[in-house]
Amino acid sequence: MAEGYDVVVIGSGPGGYAAAIRCTQRGASVAIAEKELIGGTCLNWGCIPSKALLSSAHTLLLAKRAAMMGVDITSATANWPKIQGRKDAIVSSFRKGLTGLVENSKVKIVWGRAIVTAPRQVKVEADAATMGIEADKIILATGSKPIEIPSIAFDGETVISSKEALELQQIPKSMIIIGGGVIGCELACVYAAVGTKVTIVEALSRLIPMEDEWVGRLIEREFKKLGIEAVTNQKVTCAEKTKGSVKVTLEGGRTIEAEKVLVSVGRKAVCD
Ligand SMILES: Cc1cc2nc3c(=O)[nH]c(=O)nc-3n(C[C@H](O)[C@H](O)[C@H](O)COP(=O)(O)OP(=O)(O)OC[C@H]3O[C@@H](n4cnc5c(N)ncnc54)[C@H](O)[C@@H]3O)c2cc1C
Repeated sequence: MAEGYDVVVIGSGPGGYAAAIRCTQRGASVAIAEKELIGGTCLNWGCIPSKALLSSAHTLLLAKRAAMMGVDITSATANWPKIQGRKDAIVSSFRKGLTGLVENSKVKIVWGRAIVTAPRQVKVEADAATMGIEADKIILATGSKPIEIPSIAFDGETVISSKEALELQQIPKSMIIIGGGVIGCELACVYAAVGTKVTIVEALSRLIPMEDEWVGRLIEREFKKLGIEAVTNQKVTCAEKTKGSVKVTLEGGRTIEAEKVLVSVGRKAVCD
């Protein structure tokens, strides 16, 4: 027997949970299906963890430059396990708060992967059981996932997406970031601040190519100060994994080797 609701929302990211809460405020009975963690990409693998890491990186850089401001700090170094621990604590406390908010709004959370099987029919598959939901309206809020470059497939270890880059247990000695958009540039800042040798490769003529030209130029100038090498107008053609590192070849023939390759060339809709 399927449970019946006015609305079923698939996905509990900022799109999904806001829609679900708004529907209950308007008097609808609502279920939200989530296959991973409440809060979606933004809370668990996106905005919140990236800003937590950036804020630690910023603090470290400020401390290193403190002498310039007349403040003597004898040594400032990154304590990476603590930085990661702080980030994890922020994410889990926000997740707890959000779960309470959703539950208090009388939204029923159904755990599992939702599949729309017919008009008004949703099947939610979980390890333990499969549940049927019938709803007048179905809201798809399934978000996005990182785009993979077919010749440089993700392996979660040496060729990684932003998701793994936010959770690295150790600071890598070197990292090649393919894609100079916002996600690539943010993570370049985090890792360069804690001592990783970062090279960022962008196919277009400047970093953050979606913004005005001066923004990219300004970021390139600041990146130089952080020791980040920005290679623009270059595509990566292939990557070859060796023991403990990856060697990437650029269109122009140059090769660069690093411990990690972060592919951040954009995201695509999850609509399968
Ligand atoms: C590293 C990084 C940093 C970012 N920083 C910022 C920032 O600073 N500011 C900003 O505005 N944006 C930022 N973003 C973008 C932001 O995360 C997204 O715009 C936002 O998460 C989109 O919300 P959403 O609800 O559409 O999807 P998502 O947050 O992706 O949520 C979708 C949810 O749907 C679930 N789902 C998918 N399919 C199913 C299914 N079949 N059944 C059940 N559940 C399913 C997923 O598990 C997920 O929880 C960042 C993204 C990344 C990756």
